[in-house]
Amino acid sequence: MVSPGPSDNLETLPVTVLKGVGPRMAGRLERLQIRTVQDVLFHLPARYEDRTRVMPLGSVRTGDHVVVQGEVDLAEVRFGRRRSLLVRISDGTGALTLRFFHFNAKQQAGFIRGAGIRCYGEVRSGTATAEMIHPEYRIVDPEETMPVEEHLTPVYPATEGVHQLTLRALTEQALQYLGTGPQTASTQLTDWLPARLLTPFRMTSLSAALRYVHRPPANAPVDLLMEGRHPAQQRLAFEELLAHHLSLRRVRLRAQHARAPVLSGSQALVDRFVATLPFELTAAQQRVNAEVSKDLEQPHPMARLVQGDVGSGKTVVAACAALTCVGAGYQVALMAPTELLAEQHFRSFSDWLAPLGINVVWHTGKSRGKVRGQVLEAIRDGSAEVAVGTHALFQEEVEFARAGLVIIDEQHRFGVHQRLALRDKGRDGDLRPHQLVMTATPIPRTLAMTIYADLDTSLIDELPPGRLPVKTVVISQERREEVMQRVRNACTAGQQAYWVCTLIEESDVLQSQAAEKTAAFLAGTLPDVRIGLVHGRLKPAVKETIMAAFKAGNIDLLVSTTVIEVGVDVPNATLMIIENPERLGLAQLHQLRGRVGRGPRQSSCVLLYQPPLSDNARDRLAALRDNNDGFEIARRDMELRGPGEVLGTRQTGAINFHIADLLRDESLLAGVEKVAVQLLASNPENVTPLIRRWLGVSADYGEV
Ligand code: ADP
Ligand code: MG
Repeated sequence: MVSPGPSDNLETLPVTVLKGVGPRMAGRLERLQIRTVQDVLFHLPARYEDRTRVMPLGSVRTGDHVVVQGEVDLAEVRFGRRRSLLVRISDGTGALTLRFFHFNAKQQAGFIRGAGIRCYGEVRSGTATAEMIHPEYRIVDPEETMPVEEHLTPVYPATEGVHQLTLRALTEQALQYLGTGPQTASTQLTDWLPARLLTPFRMTSLSAALRYVHRPPANAPVDLLMEGRHPAQQRLAFEELLAHHLSLRRVRLRAQHARAPVLSGSQALVDRFVATLPFELTAAQQRVNAEVSKDLEQPHPMARLVQGDVGSGKTVVAACAALTCVGAGYQVALMAPTELLAEQHFRSFSDWLAPLGINVVWHTGKSRGKVRGQVLEAIRDGSAEVAVGTHALFQEEVEFARAGLVIIDEQHRFGVHQRLALRDKGRDGDLRPHQLVMTATPIPRTLAMTIYADLDTSLIDELPPGRLPVKTVVISQERREEVMQRVRNACTAGQQAYWVCTLIEESDVLQSQAAEKTAAFLAGTLPDVRIGLVHGRLKPAVKETIMAAFKAGNIDLLVSTTVIEVGVDVPNATLMIIENPERLGLAQLHQLRGRVGRGPRQSSCVLLYQPPLSDNARDRLAALRDNNDGFEIARRDMELRGPGEVLGTRQTGAINFHIADLLRDESLLAGVEKVAVQLLASNPENVTPLIRRWLGVSADYGEV
């Protein structure tokens, strides 16, 4: 071990001081964000393997990851669908089959009848006996007692060229730096949390927690560790959540010092607009409007999240905010996650705002040619007061003359970083635009504190009056005929319907093909129904024409992929068929279903599933059938699938937790919030190093 220089501590000590880390390895470690000895210490095990005991074969259960040992009874090559080597072992309590699809002659020759085999792997159910597929194994002398591991085996997140054994060797060395002997200043790992802040939570010291988590002792409570609920793990999870929370809190604090244009004096314009609407605003919409306009009058940039269930009327609220901005002489950028939704917003905003003399333009990545040039010019010279589009609105070549407000719809589709990056877009001198983000995906408090801690929140907790909850039924594909009759009846009675085709594949091509096939089939069986088709592969102009025809009532049945998931608004549509709903998450299904039930008439949704359903799928569909409340549905969805799935990879991809788990660690959050406030007050200088330790320099939100 090279001894560290006097001014170093583990935070700055480069990983190259560790044995076995030359420039090549350092380059590979970089991919795991490991640059310093501290980074090694905070590269925490993703899970553990229990190789501390040999399990009797008679006691293993499917799904267990275990060490077993037995003698070879039989080894043979089977030529089935795939050639495989089967090795049956037994130990007097039971038998197990090892199955290898890849093997060589030498390996095969090692499995002599009577040879001792010790292996580690996952137990699967097999035809005759339980099985392990490609277990790690070695040949042992059955007479001799082979030692087992003394500790749970940590399994680290690895990458190409950096294997478990390397990571174990590195953490071993790094832990030595943590020092059992007298701590020298040069090998210290600073605990940025003053002990007095942690005592109420009875937390272990940082270095003790790290040591425990990397090398759990022999008598460690295995189940607790496997679940990540051991106090040492919780200590670290607490600190990690704190780091994320502080990072966003700092974004918020900085915003309070940044300057933004004061957007006021537009009330008359807003009132004129509201008077043109064919309905009254709900009390919730009015309250949120007031919250937003109060923010816009401040000389600091607003950062407000408007949450409201599907159909609660968020678009009108966005329009009121836009008018407040335009009335004060500034431009608005409205960004939607999909082209289809952007088009629809463009149409609503044009219909609503053009009569008031406001110029609304539209820009997406697919805009081309002369029109594109004109739009960009209008945004640049300020003659376009409202620009609607996709994230293309925020590319380099789009320059706003005087951006005052950025509105992001269906925020859950965008990542944290993307959102934060947008805050700086449209900066005009030292003036930053206000930001309004809207989402129909209710965010549980856990997540909100971790990924939205920089935002103030408003809630539209009321649907427009007269809405009837959508009636949902769960029906098997075997009754498809009946369902088609139902579509025909609705359509011939002047109502409209959606038929949504789903596929698990993200592939646009496959999704579109599935929808094309279904549309052709339905057209053949329902000749008296006017059918339209939209999917992701159509040209924007074509999509727009079809949507417009559907909205105008010239199409009865719209066959589509999940492109219509967010935002599409056709109040006369009262029936939705969702094929293979078992493939989708609850939150997504709720979004889809939200396309109906937008008018005063009773709407229905048919979940046309493919039997047989798994228990989990059955529970999910029942949860959807029995619930119309988006918050409740999102909560169930997170339970059943976890936040990563629910919010999509983009959103949570931005947060790669080392150890925290938003669902499991929910109970830590109250403490996190408290300690965050205390730390900012008592040791503000500790905040940056704490954030960097957990998030790294590049992911520090405050630096975006
Ligand atoms: P979401 O919150 O899902 O984005 P939208 O803004 O698309 O909802 O609104 C859904 C439908 O409700 C639209 O047709 C909209 O015009 C209508 N709407 C909005 N506010 C009201 C209201 N206060 N009363 C009646 N209808 C409303
Ligand atoms: Mg919407």
